[in-house]
Amino acid sequence: MKLQELASKLESDFKLHFQRPPQWIAAAPGRVNVIGEHTDYNDGFVLPMAIERYAVMAACPGASNGEIRVFDTHFKETAIINISGPVTRGEPKWSNYLRGVIAGLQRRGLSIPALDVAMVSTVPLGGGLSSSAALEVCTATLLEAVTGLSLDPVDKALIAQAAEHEFAGVPCGIMDQFISAMGREGHLLLLDCRSRRTELVPMNDPSVELLVINTNVKHELGSGEYARRRAECEEAARLLGVSSLRDATADNLEHARSRLSPVVFSRARHVISEIERTLHAASAFRESNWITAGQLMYASHDSLRDDYAVSCKELDLVVEIALEIGLTGGVYGCRMTGGGFGGCCVALVRTGSVEDISKRIAEQYQARADRSATLFSSRPAAGAAILKR
Ligand code: ADP
Ligand code: MG
Repeated sequence: MKLQELASKLESDFKLHFQRPPQWIAAAPGRVNVIGEHTDYNDGFVLPMAIERYAVMAACPGASNGEIRVFDTHFKETAIINISGPVTRGEPKWSNYLRGVIAGLQRRGLSIPALDVAMVSTVPLGGGLSSSAALEVCTATLLEAVTGLSLDPVDKALIAQAAEHEFAGVPCGIMDQFISAMGREGHLLLLDCRSRRTELVPMNDPSVELLVINTNVKHELGSGEYARRRAECEEAARLLGVSSLRDATADNLEHARSRLSPVVFSRARHVISEIERTLHAASAFRESNWITAGQLMYASHDSLRDDYAVSCKELDLVVEIALEIGLTGGVYGCRMTGGGFGGCCVALVRTGSVEDISKRIAEQYQARADRSATLFSSRPAAGAAILKR
């Protein structure tokens, strides 16, 4: 559904639920990381884009003093957030993404009025497309509309990230909130996770888009292996004498080979090569060089599978099918995206072939993995915005 339609639908649901029209409407997108995986905690680069899937919130001045009432059209339940003092964690669980952002704004001295809010989201929940960041950034954007305050986008993203850390207990990096807050239509966002500098990378050609393929598996290995990869990267950096792998080159690593265990060597090789691939891919996208961009995506997948060991057979299968369809079928490249051990793949595809490609991947995946994939395609979407003020 187009963002404007989604907002209109929410506006009428709001009227039905609260018997009044909303005064403010805000939206924030989910995201997919095009390339740059497991580079964020190594001070490296990532290249995400906002997707045409959004959290949208509508609000009007609240009927009950000292409270923000939030009706969620997904779970069909209402959260009551007490704002007469500092906002705390509470029930229902999903309300913590909003509570955390409200608390962050309170800490900055902003006084938040009572509100009635309704929300909807087309970002799949828990599908690795950051429905959580969409909620957080949407909350912050809605409160900008309500209070008239204009937050610096970096500040806004950091408030949203702090909410995820402190209120949802998820120690995420900065990518999800940065791209949701700062995405621009027709652009990817190159983000330096060390300096937090961002650069919009144009991807305006309507003849290509990104196809997201959810394998609909999530292997339990996830969090333990994630912690182990981080420790292995720290060990590699220490043995290479650098503060993070961002500062190491492929040559440095080769010279240090005898001092690193084979596993730690491989992990470092992934990170160092992935940082390079991400910068290289940003140039390729900028130049509309889809062939090179696609090859870098395949190379990223190989590296994540072989050196970083965070793929799984379902993700590998999707990439294999993409390779079988190949350039002649309209696929430039494909890779796993996100932390790994399940979740989604992302493919760079020719717009005119999207339907054929989706059909072939869905059929082949069903036949060979004996389960269904969920697919959708997107052009780079806009970041958070106030739709009504
Ligand atoms: P991801 O960010 O990859 O989608 P997370 O586990 O980080 O996965 O976030 C998913 C959680 O975000 C859900 O379990 C829910 O608590 C919350 N959430 C996201 N969108 C909505 C929504 N529309 N309504 C209620 N809760 C939501
Ligand atoms: Mg999340």
